[in-house]
Amino acid sequence: MLELKNLTCGYGTFEAVHDLSLALQPGTITALLGANGAGKSSTLMCIAGHIQLHGGSIMFEGRDISTLPAHDRVRLGLAISPEGRRLFKDLSVEDNLRVGGLIRPRSDYAHDREQVLSLFPRLGERLDSLAGNLSGGEQQMLAIGRALMTRPKLIMIDELSLGLMPKVIDLCYQALHKLREDGMAILLVEQNTDRALSVADQVCVLESGRTVWQGSAQEAARDPDLASAYLGLH
Ligand code: ATP
Repeated sequence: MLELKNLTCGYGTFEAVHDLSLALQPGTITALLGANGAGKSSTLMCIAGHIQLHGGSIMFEGRDISTLPAHDRVRLGLAISPEGRRLFKDLSVEDNLRVGGLIRPRSDYAHDREQVLSLFPRLGERLDSLAGNLSGGEQQMLAIGRALMTRPKLIMIDELSLGLMPKVIDLCYQALHKLREDGMAILLVEQNTDRALSVADQVCVLESGRTVWQGSAQEAARDPDLASAYLGLH
C-alpha cells in the first residue's frame, strides 16, 4: 500500500532521515522505533507531505505521491495523528471531528462520526467540551478520531501512549486492533517499545536517521540484538 524507497528528508540542509526503505501492507501494524531525535516524527511528517523530501520516493497504492501537497495525500487516504496531537483546543470535540471530516462529502459525516464514537465511546460523552479541557487520554482519542474522520486507508500515529494512564493506553491499543481487523495499515511511533513490539507485524528501528534494524515481529522476538543494542531494553 505504502512504499518508501530510500526516503531522505530533513530541515534546510540538515538531513533528519537518510535512505529509509519500508513497505506497509493493508491490515498490518508497523512500529517505527528509536531514541529521541532518531527521525521518527520527521518520517511521518514527510510521508504526510508536511516536510520536504530530499531524496527517494513515496509510493501510495502504486502512485508516486512524493511531490503531492499534504491535503491531496489526505484525500487519497493517508492520515496522521501528529506529535503533540495539534488539536483545535478552542473548538469542541464535535467541531474537531467536523474539521477532520471536511474533506468528505457532508452526507458521510453522521456515519463517520458514529464509527469514531463506537471506537471511542468516551468522546461521545464529551462532544460539547472544548478539546483543550480534555484529559490527555481523551485528547489522544480525539486526535486519532479526527484523523479517522478522513476515512484513511493508512493512519500514522505519533507517540500513541506518551503521558497516558495504563487503562487509556489499553483502550487506544484495542482501537488499533480493531482498525487493523478492518484492513487499515497503521504506522505507529512509540516510546513504549515493549507495547509496540507486542502488537506490531513489522518493526523498523531508526538511529540518528538511519535504519539500524528492520524485520517482522517474529524476527524481532528472536533477535536479542534488537532489544539490547538498539532499544536499550534488558
Ligand atoms: P522525538 O521522539 O524526540 O520526537 P524523533 O525520533 O521523532 O524524536 P525527530 O523529531 O524526527 O525525531 O527529529 C529528528 C532530527 O530532526 C532531530 O535531530 C531533531 O532535532 C531534528 N528536527 C526535528 N524537527 C525539526 C525542525 N522543525 N527544524 C529543524 N530540525 C528539526
